[in-house]
Amino acid sequence: MRKAWEKRRASATMEAEWLAHPVCCCGCSARLEVAKNPKQQRSFKPGHDSALKSLLRKINRGKAKSEDIPQAARANVGRIKFIQADPEFQKPFAKPSQPQRRQRKAASGDPMTVETSSL
Ligand SMILES: [Zn+2]
Repeated sequence: MRKAWEKRRASATMEAEWLAHPVCCCGCSARLEVAKNPKQQRSFKPGHDSALKSLLRKINRGKAKSEDIPQAARANVGRIKFIQADPEFQKPFAKPSQPQRRQRKAASGDPMTVETSSL
């Protein structure tokens, strides 16, 4: 639970940092102009989105690794429209980079529903 939070916070920080110094998410690291409205901040140099697209396709085909995804793209996964629009492009981001650990389940008994056998 806490881990998930930390991860979430980390990615939020990453995005904030990126917004302060936006670079192209294809991995070429070209500086982008800072938009006045962060919601309208561009994520790519014109045409560079196709470079990330082809990288993601390569990863799906096993010809590249998910570690090859540029940091900028990871930070902005939520704002890159073509990724949000296509689950195929989301796959490479969903791949766990570390082996998954099983979480211990908390006892999920409801204390209010104690069986009452009154006879
Ligand atoms: Zn680029």
